[in-house]
Amino acid sequence: MIGLGKFLGLMVLAMVERIDRQSIPLMFQSLDIRRKDVMMRNVVLNSFDGIIAIDDSGAIEVFNPAAERMFGYRSDEIIGRPAAILFPELEGPELEGRDNSQAQRDVREIDGDLREMAGRGKDGRTFPVEMALSEVAIDDRGLVTMFVRDITRRKAQQHRLEHQALHDALTGLPNRTLFQDRVQQTILSAARNRESFAVLLLDLDRFKEVNDTLGHHIGDLLLQQVATRLGDVMRASDTIARLGGDEFALLLPEMENAEAAQRVAETIVEALQRPYALAGLTIEVGSSTGIAMFPAHGDEPAVLMQRADVAMYAAKQADAGTQIYDPEIDRHGVRDLTLAGELRRAIDNDQLVVHYQPKVDLSKRRIMGAEALIRWQHPEHGLLPPGDFIDTAEKTGLIEPLTLWVLNTALAQCAAWRRAGIDIEMAVNISAKMLDDPSLGPKVEGLLRAWRVPAEVLVLDVTENALIADPDHAMETIVAISELGVRVAIDDFGTGYSSLAYLSRLPADELKIDKSFVSGMIGDASNRTIVQSTIDMAHNMALKVVAEGIESDALIEALAGMGCDIGQGFRFARPCPADKFEAWLTESPWGARDMNVLALAA
Ligand code: C2E
Ligand code: MG
Repeated sequence: MIGLGKFLGLMVLAMVERIDRQSIPLMFQSLDIRRKDVMMRNVVLNSFDGIIAIDDSGAIEVFNPAAERMFGYRSDEIIGRPAAILFPELEGPELEGRDNSQAQRDVREIDGDLREMAGRGKDGRTFPVEMALSEVAIDDRGLVTMFVRDITRRKAQQHRLEHQALHDALTGLPNRTLFQDRVQQTILSAARNRESFAVLLLDLDRFKEVNDTLGHHIGDLLLQQVATRLGDVMRASDTIARLGGDEFALLLPEMENAEAAQRVAETIVEALQRPYALAGLTIEVGSSTGIAMFPAHGDEPAVLMQRADVAMYAAKQADAGTQIYDPEIDRHGVRDLTLAGELRRAIDNDQLVVHYQPKVDLSKRRIMGAEALIRWQHPEHGLLPPGDFIDTAEKTGLIEPLTLWVLNTALAQCAAWRRAGIDIEMAVNISAKMLDDPSLGPKVEGLLRAWRVPAEVLVLDVTENALIADPDHAMETIVAISELGVRVAIDDFGTGYSSLAYLSRLPADELKIDKSFVSGMIGDASNRTIVQSTIDMAHNMALKVVAEGIESDALIEALAGMGCDIGQGFRFARPCPADKFEAWLTESPWGARDMNVLALAA
């Protein structure tokens, strides 16, 4: 044993080695030996770090108050006992009877830099410590000094930060980075064991609408509930991650084939379909899931995720719920681009056509207007409905020239009909994207003037969803349009989540009940109630009501009886080119019997 005095002398050296070889000698230079002793005693006794010295047999010789607090031993209990009691990592297979000097050799091996290891307290609890070591020889005996710091709090903090960096704060699920890492790990083990596994990408349908209309708070609650439901249906070995927004990713290890993965995906879609109770509201949202398999569809995380994304997009487009990746759908992506190029030329090459569908006043039982509906006479694919290309037009910015082309064509037609004595309203559909553009109002005004069509004759159909996407911008544009005297109709009403409060502030004139409610009315009391209350509500807000999708006489009668103002549907006429429309005007009982249709023939 060496005495404390000698140890303190050693400490000077040890500290010098550990902390700063330059400044400490300078600091102590002016002090005499006795004062150095006192000073060092102070350092050792008052240090926040545990200071422990072990001799060359591995036994503890010095144990300062900070070490006492840290490990829970009084120094007189521990001095002389092996250091391995405090540091389990220094322990051999059998501590009893082990040569203690082994512990000092172990310690020497970790000499040098700061090193982290586990400390073990008297109560058996282990905790992380950081340790710096110094070794000095004194009277031919080596003495190792350990400066030990309890880093439990720092570790916990570090752990929290790591967790934050790899997890989504809202749901607590792994984030994209961690997910990609897990996919990478799974690729390695699956390749080794010749197994396949599945990567699923899932996206909620119409989440943006929930967020925009009911607020972010409800949106957040919904995402949390989705996360919980996913957790309930998945196996413990699966990974569920939130990639951002309403997009989730799932990793299903050991999936034999895509069909097995699809069965899981279907269970998920089902689980997410059940209504959600959120802050007193009941909300239903669907979801779409795309599936990519390792190794069939890719052998890198990025490729698998991209292909699951392509499949998810296809599932969403087809309203199919789930979709397994298929290279064929990927080619569609390429087709989309080709389509955009072709569409650009179609506008110049007169391949676009407008069909007109009559709108009938249900109490006067006679036509009162027409809706202009675009089609594309494609040289190879034939007559394409708007559903096949409006999306592409919106994505590529072609929607603007397309909309202006339709407006121009419809107003030209309207002017021709008016000259022929056919005085009907003309409705034109306006995509959500167009409502972002403040120049829409002036452009509409210019076209009205050019064709000398009074503003009241024109109705612009804006889908309910377009209003929801960006309510403030939409409101501005709609106000500008209505100030021209042009009327505004809220299209596909019932398919979105627009709030009544918002609708009541809109200068709208017409509400078009979506055909899904209208066609579902017969024999379904709840749809009938929805339609009746929509009619009543619209009338209270001084809006005219149009029922879309009328395919039978029974519906005409039912809707007329419910006070619906206007009807549109195949039962009156399908959308058709202008010449056929004129023929219908003269032939149909709903047509323009009292209008001067004969002038058309001239
Ligand atoms: P929308 O504005 O709701 O138009 C009504 C759609 O319902 C038309 O489909 C029409 O053909 C169809 N329809 C009418 N009566 C019936 C019926 O009795 N039964 C059934 N099952 N369907 C009926 P279409 O022409 O395929 O248009 C689809 C959508 O494309 C339109 O829905 C509109 O949102 C959009 N669209 C059409 N033309 C344009 C356009 O020029 N610009 C923009 N941005 N969108 C357009
Ligand atoms: Mg419409």
